[in-house]
Amino acid sequence: MQKTCPGLYSRIDRKEQPLTAYNAWFQCSRDCTGRFPLTDVIYECPSCGGLLEVRHDLSALKQQSAEEWKGLFDRRFMRTEWPYGSSVWGKKELVCPVVDEENVVSMFEGGSNLFWADRLGHAFGLDDLWVKQCGNSHTGSFKDLGMTVLVSMVNQMVSDGQKIPAVACASSGDTSAALAAYAAAAGMQAVVFLPKDRVSTAQLVQPMSNGALVLSLDTDFDGCMTLVKEICANENIYLANSMNSLRVEGQKTVAIELVQQDDWQVPDWVVVPGGNLGNPTALGKGFLEMQELGMIDRLPRIAVAQSANANPLYLSYQNNFDTLETVQARATLASAIQIGNPVSQEKAAKILKLFGGVVEQVTEQELADAAARADRTGLFCCPHTGVAFGGLIKLLERGVIKPEEKVVVISTAHGLKFTEFKIDYHRDALGDYDVSPRYPNLPVELPADYEAVKQALLTRIEARSGAG
Ligand SMILES: *Cc1c(COP(=O)(O)O)cnc(C)c1O
Ligand SMILES: [Zn+2]
Repeated sequence: MQKTCPGLYSRIDRKEQPLTAYNAWFQCSRDCTGRFPLTDVIYECPSCGGLLEVRHDLSALKQQSAEEWKGLFDRRFMRTEWPYGSSVWGKKELVCPVVDEENVVSMFEGGSNLFWADRLGHAFGLDDLWVKQCGNSHTGSFKDLGMTVLVSMVNQMVSDGQKIPAVACASSGDTSAALAAYAAAAGMQAVVFLPKDRVSTAQLVQPMSNGALVLSLDTDFDGCMTLVKEICANENIYLANSMNSLRVEGQKTVAIELVQQDDWQVPDWVVVPGGNLGNPTALGKGFLEMQELGMIDRLPRIAVAQSANANPLYLSYQNNFDTLETVQARATLASAIQIGNPVSQEKAAKILKLFGGVVEQVTEQELADAAARADRTGLFCCPHTGVAFGGLIKLLERGVIKPEEKVVVISTAHGLKFTEFKIDYHRDALGDYDVSPRYPNLPVELPADYEAVKQALLTRIEARSGAG
């Protein structure tokens, strides 16, 4: 009887194992020795200036077997028990064990569909292509996964008595939407720094609707980032950008979840678009920790795809990551990854070396056509997911990824956030980006007349079947 009641079952679980005994702390990602509590307002190592990362007490986590962890995560997955029905908080012990349950700020994020994109895979010449739809989420991008952890931690700090008047971020669009939503859910003030005229209407209206203070600045993302860092350092405002490594902890659950959704099988490749490079870093960290706990016995290879107009990691990869490159990012339709100086480049390079990682770059034409091609098989891709598909196509052509390998593409946002990009593609209005669409599909305008409609139908449908 107990086992049929998820609430009771997990309460008993918790009594048997003191799950709150797990510990995590900030430590330098370059391995300096200092440890700092997750309630400290600190983003960089005081000794060397490197980024911090969250480290877990893995020896405590190893007291449970891999099978026990998988079982626990599976029992909680997509259920209603607070807060474990969230796929991020369903892995709380491994993500952020130091937040009290009542301080978690969650909208039951995660659990996005991982599906077999059979037709698209075959169109690319691939037998086993899967798409992880991280854009099917609360604010329409994967940024929710990290933001629930960061805002929960701030909520914990406030409830512990710390004074934090606001949380702030610079954003190329999706981070600000996630921050604004989670801050609103917690009753906190959010401040978002956006590059004027470089985010989509949907991305702009999200933080407006959620009551954030929206600052539209006459600069690009890198310019917003410089300013928000300075303001946060001087004005006691909490910084929510991905240099804050709490977000990486939430985002790493994508790795755990995509393996969990495939009965704990590891794919051969994971392909992800990269901008500030927190997400590729998170993906790698998730796989490494699962391996450390014995939950998986091998690692996938990771491919990061960048826009050729914002390609610092690609340039660094050309030098075997011996150098970290920065560029002046040029305008790209993949606006969320128009970043020339990625905060997490050093971390991402370290991860890619461990994962036999590769980096590919794609042009505006390639990303726009790849997105449109995917849409023709039933998807509705954002331009960043177009970058990932464009990268996949090129890696297949170059023989880096083999037709028989199992590939998971991380789709990072919902296409509905980028309708301007999509409609301009079909209207052939992306000349500024040198794109001429290979897969346009415009509405046919007609009088409301039977014969006219019939004619249009016959010619269009024949033309279609002729084109295959
Ligand atoms: C943030 C974002 C990215 C890039 O992720 P990074 O962690 O900055 O590399 C890609 N796609 C979308 C839709 C995003 O919002
Ligand atoms: Zn250090």
